[in-house]
Amino acid sequence: MTTPRTPDVHVLPANLHALTAAIFERAGWTSRDAHLAADHLVLSNLSGHDSHGVGMVPRYIQTAQKGLLKTGHELTTVMDAGALLTIDGGMQLGQVIGHDATALAIDRARAHGVAVLALRNTHHLGRIGHWGEQAAAAGLVAIHYVNVIGRPPLVAPWGGSRARFSTNPFCVAFPRPGTDPVVLDFATSRIAHGKTRVAWKRGVQVADDNLLDSEGRATNDPSVMWTDPLGALLPFGDHKGFGLGMLCELLAGGLGGAGTIPGRTDWGLIVNNMLSILVDPAKLGGAGSYAAETEKLIEWVYSTPAAEGFDRVRIPGEPERELRAKRTAAGTPLDATSWGEIVATAVSLGIPRAEVAAMAGVDVGG
Ligand code: NAD
Repeated sequence: MTTPRTPDVHVLPANLHALTAAIFERAGWTSRDAHLAADHLVLSNLSGHDSHGVGMVPRYIQTAQKGLLKTGHELTTVMDAGALLTIDGGMQLGQVIGHDATALAIDRARAHGVAVLALRNTHHLGRIGHWGEQAAAAGLVAIHYVNVIGRPPLVAPWGGSRARFSTNPFCVAFPRPGTDPVVLDFATSRIAHGKTRVAWKRGVQVADDNLLDSEGRATNDPSVMWTDPLGALLPFGDHKGFGLGMLCELLAGGLGGAGTIPGRTDWGLIVNNMLSILVDPAKLGGAGSYAAETEKLIEWVYSTPAAEGFDRVRIPGEPERELRAKRTAAGTPLDATSWGEIVATAVSLGIPRAEVAAMAGVDVGG
């Protein structure tokens, strides 16, 4: 990576949360929904996933102003068979619909031992680990497959030179009684699309072997994912990541009845479909056995001597928690371009600049 153009702005989480919630309220969401959105977006930044944090707010608000993202929070039941549920999110805010649909699936998993939720037609669900963490906090194992169909294809299949899928994320969260869960949560592209946005706005290049330009040639320039003619992200793990991304398409879009990417032309908004499988671990193998096995395995993994260049082995979910602790104390860094867009969005919604500055706790310029 090269040096960014302008220094980042650091905003403390409580300030960022207050400003984010105020923007959503001004744009028409209820106070409860605006706070759910702020909870999710600020936690993404704190976790180090700036690609899925408050930098998305200007785009969400623009999409809402076009009438494509709805301000309500209604879950429409398409099918309800107890442990099996199909819910339509009505193109409402993913940060709210994801929360409410996961809460419903948690109730069903507690009642039946398992719940399979097909959530369709929802605006961007953001950091999928958020939903895994919600289920894990309720003591449940959660597996999530997501397909993204409302924007042009972004990821080339293994062996291909043009994009055919989106970044279809996959997540598994595994609760650990009395302590933090294991949370594996990633895009099936080598890097998340939003990370190319952050790099592009910061004016930096991305690492090798992540991107193809519109002619299918390797490039480090993130603008190929944001300006026409578009290039493609490569799948992580070569044929294996491509296979998992394709399965996300089939499980979230095909099995759930939401639809897959071929033939879609409604580009311009981020439509997410998610298949969630929630399992009560106490029911399958027994509460004692699963907890003991989990801790035994984690201890075994931790006992690995560190490789050159590493201080120690970490388990999935740990880097995010470490960063949360640091960023909660020091403030979350936001690139100057994204920060300017957030401030402009707040002002355009009628929040006086002085009020934005007071909420943010930093200078927001004249
Ligand atoms: P990433 O490449 O940063 O990988 C994150 C995962 O790897 C986490 O589980 C993390 O704990 C683990 N990890 C990272 N470093 C580790 C280490 N040293 N040791 C052990 N584990 C480690 O994630 P990404 O692919 O950039 O995805 C970022 C976010 O984007 C995710 O939250 C994903 O859900 C989200 N996303 C959302 C959409 C959508 O449309 N909603 C699409 C794509 C991605």
